[in-house]
Amino acid sequence: MRILLVEDDPQIGAAIASALKDAGMATDWVSDGGAALASINAGAFELVLLDIGLPKHDGFSVLKHIRQNRNSVPVIVITARDAVEDRISGLDLGADDYLVKPFMVDELLARIRAVARRHSGSAQPLLSNGAICIDPTSKATTYQDAVIDLTAKEYRLLHSLLLTPGRIYSREELEEKVYGWEEEVTSNAIEFLIHSLRKKTDKSAIKNVRGLGWMVPKE
Ligand code: CA
Repeated sequence: MRILLVEDDPQIGAAIASALKDAGMATDWVSDGGAALASINAGAFELVLLDIGLPKHDGFSVLKHIRQNRNSVPVIVITARDAVEDRISGLDLGADDYLVKPFMVDELLARIRAVARRHSGSAQPLLSNGAICIDPTSKATTYQDAVIDLTAKEYRLLHSLLLTPGRIYSREELEEKVYGWEEEVTSNAIEFLIHSLRKKTDKSAIKNVRGLGWMVPKE
C-alpha cells in the first residue's frame, strides 16, 4: 500500500513515516500543501494522511482541491485536539475519516486498514486467530502486528485454515484449496507449505492431528 503523508511537524512526521514503513507501507512524506497537491496530482497513492495546519495551502484547501478534481483517493485528516470544527469541516469536504493528535500508532494503522477496506468496496472482515491476522481485502498478513510475506500458496492455505479455527482439514481438502485444477501436486507439498508458514509465524501456529490432517488451534 502506498501512502502520502502530509505533515509539517518534523517530529510527528518522522514518527508517523517510520511507523508506516515498519507496518510494510510504502510512504512518501511531504510537509506543505503545495507539495501535497503536486504529489497527489502526479502519483498513484492509495491513501493520503493529511494534516490540517500546513504552510502554503492548509489541509482543507488541499482536500477541497482533490475532491473538486474528482480524485477519490481515500483521505484521513489529522486534526488538533479539541478542534471539533476541523473534524466536521474535514468530513464535509470529503475526508473519509479523521484522527486527533496525539494518537497511537495502532489506531492510525487500524483506521488506515478500515478506510482502505471500505474504499475497495468489499468490506470483508479481518480473519484473526491468536497473533495471526489476515486482511482478505488487501491480502496483507500480519504476525504479532508485523507484516509477513507469504507466497500465493501459503496465503491460500493459511486463509483456509483461519476461516474455521479448530476445524481439522485433511490433506486432500487442503490440496483442493491451495492448488488449481491444472496444477500437479507433489506428495509432500502441503507439509512443505505448513513448514514454511510455521517458520514465518510460530511453530505451534498450525497443529498436525495425526492421521487426520491439520488445523489452526482456536485461540
Ligand atoms: Ca501542522
